[in-house]
Amino acid sequence: MARLTLDDVTKVFTDDSGSDIVAAEDISLEIDDGEFLVLVGPSGCGKSTTLRMIAGLETVTDGDIRLDDQLLNDVSAQERDIAMVFQSYALYPHKSVRGNMSFGLEESTDLPDDEINERIEQTTEMLGIRELLDRKPGQLSGGQQQRVALGRAIVRDPEVFLMDEPLSNLDAKLRAQMRTELQRLQEDLGVTTIYVTHDQTEAMTMGDKIAVLDDGELQQIGTPLECYHRPNNLFVAGFIGEPSMNFFQGSIENDVLRGDNFNYHLSESTREYVDGLESLTLGIRPEDIEVGLDQMGDHCFEAEVVVVEPQGNENTVHLQFVDGDGSAQFTATTTGQTTVSAGDRTVVKFPEEATHLFDGQSGDALKHREIPSNRSLNSFV
Ligand code: ATP
Repeated sequence: MARLTLDDVTKVFTDDSGSDIVAAEDISLEIDDGEFLVLVGPSGCGKSTTLRMIAGLETVTDGDIRLDDQLLNDVSAQERDIAMVFQSYALYPHKSVRGNMSFGLEESTDLPDDEINERIEQTTEMLGIRELLDRKPGQLSGGQQQRVALGRAIVRDPEVFLMDEPLSNLDAKLRAQMRTELQRLQEDLGVTTIYVTHDQTEAMTMGDKIAVLDDGELQQIGTPLECYHRPNNLFVAGFIGEPSMNFFQGSIENDVLRGDNFNYHLSESTREYVDGLESLTLGIRPEDIEVGLDQMGDHCFEAEVVVVEPQGNENTVHLQFVDGDGSAQFTATTTGQTTVSAGDRTVVKFPEEATHLFDGQSGDALKHREIPSNRSLNSFV
């Protein structure tokens, strides 16, 4: 069993001028045995610091980290049964692949040579790099080096894997391939894993659960689809999903959300969510905007197509309101068959059931898009 728990974990650094930098604040997480958790957020949000505290490479300022019932705070990195894979691979350049993989085991265990060799052979077989055992890192491609770095973690047979942006040095195609490979490996090995990335696509596609961080604070923890369809706040709504959710700010006047370029009628049932509030942000995902309608109706707007980015199977369409001053652009995705071009005028619809509403001050979610009653969240994509 390897269940990792973080209880109100905080890390405060002090800079050269003596000021405090709060890199992680009151982070509480539970990662079940065998679970794959992706820690995601923008640069500087505290992902690496959190991971390094779990690895024992940074001290914890406050809070507790536990592996099952064992408190890890004062256990040295060497004594934690945790293996970390770094973005830089951190391979020894003068050692062969075999040497890189055996070194840690020789240093930290008293396993006999034949057991070490057997683990290395099995692991390199699994990773498809067995024929590279005698090469040095400088004689390997980026993808091969990444496999060696992974292999070095796997041969240790640890209770927990920590991975810090392990795929970011690879080109897009190899990264997509390694993503699938890593997921398969993690499932086969069943090792509790925390994977850090700033890439929301990696988070959406790889994790059983994702934990979204911003500015040192945990914003949401949930399945990828929970975070996508039921974001806790404006930050998660904007960070998860590509292209991003569209946002429109406005004030509430009777039954209308009134923005600079935008008036949106709020039905009676929606108004219940916003009772007493003065300002709101309405969010709608690009795939929920209907483009190219024949006529105006409820929740419809006249819009002009600014740019179309065709991807073959679908188009990303950038639009602006015809009645607006051009400052409020928004993005819709349409199927590849929909033909719209830059300069076209079209009618778009923001169906109310697909809208999210956020408190204009705090950014907290007030209402999420509806999930059709015959669909579950996990089948709703
Ligand atoms: P990135 O994706 O860019 O690696 P991150 O989310 O991993 O970012 P961290 O490296 O954890 O972010 O940094 C979080 C905050 O803590 C940042 O403001 C960073 O400048 C600060 N920080 C990190 N390490 C130190 C340190 N040793 N001393 C002072 N401040 C630090």
